[in-house]
Formats: sequence, structure tokens, C-alpha cells
Amino acid sequence: MSTARAWAMDGPEEPFHPTTITRREVGPTEVAFDIKYAGICHSDIHTARSGWGPAKYPIVPGHEIAGVVREVGTDVTKFAVGDRVGVGCLVDACGTCEQCRCGREQFCKRAVWTYNSIGVDGEVTKGGYSTSITVEQDFVCRIPDALGLDVAAPLLCAGITTYSPLKKWGAGPGKRVAIVGMGGLGHVAVQIAAAMGAEVSVISQTRSKEADGRRFGASNYIAVSEDGWIKGHVGEFDLVLSTVAADEDITQLVRTVAFGGAFIDVGMPETASKLNLRTLCSTGASVNASLIGGIAETQEMLDFCAEHGVAAQVEVIPASEITAAYDRVVKSAVRYRYVIDASTI
Ligand SMILES: [Zn+2]
Ligand SMILES: [Zn+2]
Repeated sequence: MSTARAWAMDGPEEPFHPTTITRREVGPTEVAFDIKYAGICHSDIHTARSGWGPAKYPIVPGHEIAGVVREVGTDVTKFAVGDRVGVGCLVDACGTCEQCRCGREQFCKRAVWTYNSIGVDGEVTKGGYSTSITVEQDFVCRIPDALGLDVAAPLLCAGITTYSPLKKWGAGPGKRVAIVGMGGLGHVAVQIAAAMGAEVSVISQTRSKEADGRRFGASNYIAVSEDGWIKGHVGEFDLVLSTVAADEDITQLVRTVAFGGAFIDVGMPETASKLNLRTLCSTGASVNASLIGGIAETQEMLDFCAEHGVAAQVEVIPASEITAAYDRVVKSAVRYRYVIDASTI
């Protein structure tokens, strides 16, 4: 057992406070690494504030984790001390079920989430708002040298969450892709879709982020606060990827899907969204959701981002600002991802 510094919340309305947690000694196939940066994902806020159901307190969130390997177990073959590595939303799975065998461990019934889950040691898992973590090597990814650890951290969730459905639904040359919302997920999604070769549009509330959207690779920008915005966009997009965490009526957005195309949600609103099902009869659109990606696909995404110069746009903050940062994320006042400097934890 070793100890690590961390920041935790003790209840849904409590502020974060510094604390000390224990990390298990590395097992034969495990890797321990010193955390350098941890992104603040909207999921952290939904979970820590019990928006998705009661959390296990004290909670140490963080599933966008980047750092440097400090110690490896005796049978570790994939990593060595000093390697630059990252961990996303998953730290374990059964390895034998159908979902695990096809590389989609995120759907394993025995998946262990990086925090607020029960780990292999029987303890509640604690995430990246800490100074170190011990993880099974199969759930650790290598961060390419071309990516700084601070801008790579958010890719471990925001990157794979958007890369996986963009790839699955064929974002590429000749395809028109709309990204709904340009926050932490959306600003990465625009870059990835553009790097894949798709023609990218942003659908946002206002035009306040239009210049950024175009800089990230979008060629069109639509503001839904403008009257009649839907005119000219019905049936336009092969893929509409919604990154918005707010609850809303998605009927108008689904109307923008082209015949045979798809509306995919990755924003995971806390309560039910609204959709007039008759819209599907007239468009033939599919409506679905996507959940991060498997570990192999996460590594593929990191390599893709390094090759194409895709990185999160981050604001690095000290741990003492986590609570205030949460409030700003909820108000969409962050451009575009807060990343905690673990040396301040
Ligand atoms: Zn996340
Ligand atoms: Zn499994």
C-alpha cells in the first residue's frame, strides 16, 4: 500500500478538499504512475454531484489522466518506468465476455470505472484528481511524444467519446457531419471530424464560438438561437453528433439528419430528452447513443490525434480551483477544458 494526495468531495453539495488516499501496491501485471494532469469532464460533475444517481462519498473523480510510469509489476510487458501514459474511464473488465472479446470493454457487465466503482481490490475506485494511480497494464494507453501531457489528458475521455462514433458512422471525405455543442467534447469532435476529412458544421446556441469553430476545422456554423435556423438544413447531415449535456427537445436536430444517416448522443443529459417520433418516419434517421470506446480504440485515437495535430484546448488550473471550475463548466463558461496540474494537489 502506498499513499497519494488527492482532492475529494464528501457530499453532492460540498466543495472539494485536499485529502490522502491509499493506492494498492502494483500487482504482477499492473502499472503505477505519477499523475501529471487530470482533465475535468462534465461526467465528473454529473457523478460527484449525484446528478446521475447517488455517488459513493468521499469521491475522487477524474478519468482523463496523463502521467509518467513510476513502477511496473514483474510481468508487465507493455510499459517501462518513465513511459508517458494515460488512463481514461475504465480500469478493468472481465476480459472474456463477448463485449471484451470484440474490444468494447466499456460494455462489459464487470467493467470497473476509474472512480466511483468497486475495484479489483474491493475498494471504491478513486480517479485522477490525485498524485498517483495503480492500473492493470491492459487498461493503460501510451501517449505519443507529439502530444503534451496536459493537452492529451482530455483526449482520454473527450477524444475517444467523439472519435468512436465518428469512425463508426463513417466520418470522412464526402460526408457531412454536424457537431452539436462546442464545449469540452464538441471542440475535440470538430477537430477529429475535420482530420478524418469530413465536411464539418457546428450547431451551437449562438455565434459566440464561431471563429474558434472555424479554427478547429468547421466550414459551416449554425446558431439555433436565430429564428428559422432549421430552414435549409433539413436532411443535410450524414451524422449529427450531439455533445450537449443539457436536457432538451432534439426533434429539430433529428430533422437535420440525411436519409440513412444518424443522430448520435454522447452528451448524456441527466433527464429524458424529447423527440417527436414522427420525425423518424419522415427521415429514416437512426437515433442512438455512444459510450466512450474500447482500450485498443482509445490507443488508436491517441495515435490519430498525434498524427493529425488534434489536441484539447486547455486551461491548466491548480487543484484549489476545482469547485469553482465545476460551476463554470455547468455555465458553459470554460474554453474548452479545465485540466488540473497534479503538482498542486
Ligand atoms: Zn468523461
Ligand atoms: Zn467482459
